[in-house]
This record gives sequence, structure tokens and C-alpha cells, in this order.
Amino acid sequence: MKRQTGSSMKPLAVLAPAISEKLITNVTVFADTPTTFTDYNGELYSPTNYDGYKGSITLRQAVESSQNIPFVQIMENLTPQVSIKYLKKMGITTLNEKDVNLSLSLGGLDEGISPLEFAGGYGAIANNGIYIEPTFYTKIDTLSNKTILKSSQKKRRVISKDVACILKQLLTEPVIGSNGTAKYCNISGMDVAAKTGTTNDNYDKWLCGFTPYYTAVCWFGFDMNESINYNHQNPAGLIWSSIMKNIHLNLPNAKFEMSRGVVTETICRDSGKVANSSCPNTFTEYFLKGTVPENCTQHSGSNLNNKSNQKQTNSNKKTNTEINSTNTNTENNSTVNENDASPTTTQNNTANSTIQNTTTNTVPNTNTNVTTNTTNTVQNNTNTTNSSNTSITNSITQNNSLTNNSVSNE
Ligand SMILES: [Zn+2]
Repeated sequence: MKRQTGSSMKPLAVLAPAISEKLITNVTVFADTPTTFTDYNGELYSPTNYDGYKGSITLRQAVESSQNIPFVQIMENLTPQVSIKYLKKMGITTLNEKDVNLSLSLGGLDEGISPLEFAGGYGAIANNGIYIEPTFYTKIDTLSNKTILKSSQKKRRVISKDVACILKQLLTEPVIGSNGTAKYCNISGMDVAAKTGTTNDNYDKWLCGFTPYYTAVCWFGFDMNESINYNHQNPAGLIWSSIMKNIHLNLPNAKFEMSRGVVTETICRDSGKVANSSCPNTFTEYFLKGTVPENCTQHSGSNLNNKSNQKQTNSNKKTNTEINSTNTNTENNSTVNENDASPTTTQNNTANSTIQNTTTNTVPNTNTNVTTNTTNTVQNNTNTTNSSNTSITNSITQNNSLTNNSVSNE
């Protein structure tokens, strides 16, 4: 199945390529005002925002409330051709020449993207930049422990570990920001990155996101397009949140790792530049080394010495060590799960049942792909039909970042 993605496309089509190409930082300022663009087919393109215009805003603010105009501006600068190059590396196979236009930035696609391929793409960010082709099994053993079938997943680096680190921090904003579109996805004690998506006329609802442990993508909609009205809530997000909260219940708290090429800086909220002692409102922001903005000139004060910066770096280092020490447990847990006697065939059976499952046009479907970041193995793929005839597909894979250092250090 392929569906229009709406704004859940922004991290893969815009943020990952544009941060990699150093076209933007988290504090790049955009004019979020009604804008008419000239598109690649020569036609005028006037996208609108879902919920009004915010004027001058930073990238982080644009991500928080999913403003559209800044993302089209970035795509204009990035070009759809470069965006598609990245998307293909992230395992998206359903783009074509008709997608070479600015609406690619907002997920207005010719054919659309499958939730499984989308989960693979988001998994690449969670996996510190390594794309691992999703699979429904790792191996099939006979009763006498002879391996008769082994999955060979394609693996490749698609963005740097540093860019992945920046993206993770940025994508926590819809969850932790006061105007966040995915605040209900918060999981106590865990860093959570999440991006919502809604298409025209509310035909499709998405929630794509990840924690240090799992990546999950959930789509909710009708086979034959119908508007989804669910008390002004995103049902895909509610399902995502419910599944993810449950599978993290017994896992140790974990934060996203820092990366060596990423620095933190205290930023002046008014100017978006490096703060000094007189800047009244400041916040900490993450930058690729070499992309830290200039000093604030709107306020005149003395330089904040680097001590605070150094402190943050050290405390981050410490946090990382703490996380690593808990990784062993995580790895053990996930190994136990993966080597459990039943899953291999169960997963295959349920994967088949997913394909066989057909639904009527009058009830909405959901398709949730949850993947472990370790192997991008779809751990849990089940179709359940509840009394209201809504079908739910869950596939689970675990994030690599916590459990496989040999890959994450690449
Ligand atoms: Zn200032």
C-alpha cells in the first residue's frame, strides 16, 4: 500500500538532506507568511499552513507546530532532485519524475509511500544515520538448530551520525514544545522524536517517530478516501502513543546520544544568535561543528564563557556513559526476544495475514510499523480486528543505536 504522507515527509525529504548539505541549522530564521512559489512545472504554488502563520520563526519552531511555508522555502533552496536522492538512499522506492516539485516538501506525492518504507527511513535517523532494510525475520532454524534461511538486509549510511543526532534533538520538539503537535506521544523517562502528518481533506493521518529503542510509523485512513474526523485528534498518533508507551514500560530510561561532531550553544531567543550576558531569554541548541551562528548584537553584554558549554558537553558525555552501561541490559532483553522460539514463523504467518487482510471501504484502516533499531527486524506483526472492524497492523523493529556499537560507530 502507498499513501500520501503529508507533513510526516518533512524530516526525510527536507530536514535530513538540508541539514546534511549545511543549508540550515536549528536556528535558521524563516518568514512564515503567505508565499507564492514558482514550481518546477512553471505553475504558481501557494501552499497554506494548517493552523495560521507565525511570522518570523526558527527552524525548531517550524518543526514544533509543523508550519508549511518554511519547509517549501528550504526545498526551493535544496531542490527536489537532491531531496529525492536522499529519499532513495533511505529506502523510499515509490517516487518518480512527477515528484520533482516543491510539494514534495509537504508530502504531496504522485503515488505516495508505504508505512513500512517510511519506518525504514525514520529508522535510519534513529540508527545514527544507517539505513537497514526492514525485514520480517532474521533466520529460520530447524529443530536440530540448522539454519535453513537467513535474512540478508541491505545496510548503508545515508546521513552522518552528527546529522542524525541533530535531527533527533530537533524532532523531540513536536513532543516537548509548548505548541507541539505530538505532545501526547511523550513517554516518561524517554527521549521521544515524533512527527505528525495530515493530508488534504483529512484523508490520511500519520504519526512517525522513535525512541532510543524503537521506531514506529502508524498510518490511519480509509482504502477509498474519506475524511477522518476524530474529535480533532490524530487517531494514528493515539495508536502510536498507546503501542509505544506499552512496549517501553519495562525498559530503562534512555536519552538520545550526543555525537562528537555536534556542539551545544546558548542562544538568544530574540536574535537567534549566540547569547551574551545581557540576552534576556536564552535556550540551548544543537549545532554541527562549524555551523554555530554569530554572537548576538541585539543585546550588548559580555561573552558567556565557554565553561557552561563545556559543562554541558561533559554532562552529555556522562549521560552517554550511563546509557551505554544500561545498553547491555537492553541488548540482552532484545536478544532474548529475538531468539524466542516462536517469533520467526509467527511473524511470517502474521505478515502474510496482513497481506491477505482486506477491509471494507466504510471502516478506517491503520497500519503501524514498529521496528527495533538493532536489526530493523519487524518483531511484532499482527492484525487485530476489534468490534468496530478497524484493522491494526503492527510491525516492530528495534533501534540500532543502543545495541550495536560496531554499526553505530561507522
Ligand atoms: Zn541577545
